[in-house]
Amino acid sequence: MAPSSNNQEQRQPEIGAAFDAVVVGAGFAGLYMLHRLRGLGFNARVYEAGGGVGGTWYWNRYPGARCDVESMQYSFSFSEDLDQQWDWSEKYAPQPEILSYANHVADRFGLRPHIAFDTRVISAGFDEAAKCWRIETDRGDQVSAKFCIMAVGCLSAANRPAFEGIEEFRGPIHHTGQWPHEGVDFTGLRAGVIGTGSSAIQSIPIIAQQASSLTVFQRTATYSVPAWNQKLTPEYRQTIKADYPALRAKARARPTGFYFPFNMQPALQATPEERERQYEEAWERGGLPFLGAFGDLLFEKAANDTIAEFARDKIRRLVQDPATAELLCPDNVFGCKRLCVDTGYFETYNLPHVKLVDVSKTPIERFTADGIEVDGVEYPLDIVVCATGFAAMTGSFDRIRITGRDGLTLSQKWQAGPRAYLGVASAGFPNLFMITGPGSPSVLASMIQAIEQHVDWMADCMAHLRDLGAATIEPKPQDEDDWVEHVNEVSKVSLRSTCSSWYVGANIAGRPRVFMPYIGGFPIYVQKCNEVMSNGFEGFAIEGADAGNQPPRVRLTERWRVPLDMDVISPAAIAARRVPVV
Ligand code: FAD
Ligand code: NAP
Repeated sequence: MAPSSNNQEQRQPEIGAAFDAVVVGAGFAGLYMLHRLRGLGFNARVYEAGGGVGGTWYWNRYPGARCDVESMQYSFSFSEDLDQQWDWSEKYAPQPEILSYANHVADRFGLRPHIAFDTRVISAGFDEAAKCWRIETDRGDQVSAKFCIMAVGCLSAANRPAFEGIEEFRGPIHHTGQWPHEGVDFTGLRAGVIGTGSSAIQSIPIIAQQASSLTVFQRTATYSVPAWNQKLTPEYRQTIKADYPALRAKARARPTGFYFPFNMQPALQATPEERERQYEEAWERGGLPFLGAFGDLLFEKAANDTIAEFARDKIRRLVQDPATAELLCPDNVFGCKRLCVDTGYFETYNLPHVKLVDVSKTPIERFTADGIEVDGVEYPLDIVVCATGFAAMTGSFDRIRITGRDGLTLSQKWQAGPRAYLGVASAGFPNLFMITGPGSPSVLASMIQAIEQHVDWMADCMAHLRDLGAATIEPKPQDEDDWVEHVNEVSKVSLRSTCSSWYVGANIAGRPRVFMPYIGGFPIYVQKCNEVMSNGFEGFAIEGADAGNQPPRVRLTERWRVPLDMDVISPAAIAARRVPVV
């Protein structure tokens, strides 16, 4: 479906307008927040830097871009009608289809008129006297809002490393996360790809089909599991739709917020033959659920070694040249960096015109006019793709000047790493909410589930404050400190905290090394949010209402009463680890 026209080229800046809420970003988070705010009768404006809705799926138009959580789960669950009426074409939908879905949601729920496109929020400052946020955009808007909601995305601030000589390169350089809308034709070109994360792994096989040569610059080898993507039949879709709410409920009860078969048995208790069989079966199912082959894979290094060796063995079988295969074999913890899901990635290196260059020990030295130089060797190129990822979790916050009480900016407060209570708000920044902010499950969960839970909680909170007649809400510093400490503590239980991933900010030199998402599991986190709410927003200071921290009169959003799925999160596992870490 073609998106409805945004038709905003002639939009005049809004000066002095006052809103109940301003939302920054029109990805899935911003769209659902706007829908909830409008449903509650709040007057809201969304500002979006891009020319359309969809966020990630608006920007990441590189060849091969698609989701790696199955489409029938990587979608909104708040509307039963939407679930029933939308048909996903493939197990993992391609980017254009996900973008169509975002546009459909915007139109179906009448959201588009409330969104200002091609408009970047450059500053948001809390006005202490008026108890509101004053927001400015790069189009000259100057508006105020009681609530300011950051829906800026965890993976939206593209990381473009400052390679020496980059301006000398004669050909085009494209970042996967800022891909040209008109597409890129690689036919007959000598292409270079920097990076081997998820974006690279999806795009490399397709670029290789078009380019006359392809050189991949690899800093860290990556584990990847086959997607076994396929068309969805009407019968399959109907089977899911016949009891969609049940699937959604099962997904919410899982540590990752999406449902897949999970074996709680420890790998170390299985015989080598049992392990091999289990890994082989999980490989045949493919995708992210491969990590669910055993229950201890992210806790015990010895268990992890067994799955890592299985995956390396697969690479050695898939790649014909032994030296290239060895270079492609990761030596770090399996699943420590975000696991990749591919279609024909490793096999691509069997093509005679595809070359892998190791830049782990000798980094990219410089760009020249005609290519890239590594260790004194120039690789001639006509076009370069930077699949170099994002300033994850906090990057889009850093790019806005956000000033709270006493002139403190959020960047100053977060200099040594992000600090937010439950990942939804930060002390000193009243009435500022962060959807999937650092300290929440966010990127460790299926993100649309994580977004919906945050948005519902925030919407309930704002409605409650309106009921009370309260002016502001913000975390109490001690409760925030306790939560940040808990997030850190829990992360240490998991092997995920042990490598230089973007989860810890280590993909970009100079960023503080802090494990940013909450790894304790989605249902445990949801229960904590529910408790905080039922106890009158315990841990938050509410100002301007006599009622203070009274429990809400009604619990507005019931569907987040998430039971722990005891088949998956066994009491024994909880006892051994205290929390079911994902
Ligand atoms: P985004 O979609 O990132 O939207 C944020 C929006 O905020 C952007 O449009 C941006 O332009 C806007 N914005 C930021 N700063 C400003 C500003 N200052 N002013 C105005 N606008 C601003 N997650 C999964 O769970 N499953 C997947 O399969 C999956 N696949 C992914 C594939 C790719 C290629 C990438 C990059 C991410 C993927 N993710 C996946 C994560 C994905 O980011 C989330 O699933 C989800 O789309 C995030 O939605 P969002 O609205 O929170 O953020
Ligand atoms: P990424 O995982 O951070 O990968 C970036 C790659 O660029 C890494 O290989 C990194 O190496 C390399 N790199 C960065 N700077 C470099 C430099 N200066 N020199 C050489 N190499 C450099 O980014 P991404 O691939 O865009 O994915 C980010 C996240 O988005 C994913 O983890 C996932 O959550 C999501 N995503 C999902 C899908 C999907 O399948 N649905 C697709 C794309 C993205 P190091 O590893 O050494 O840092």
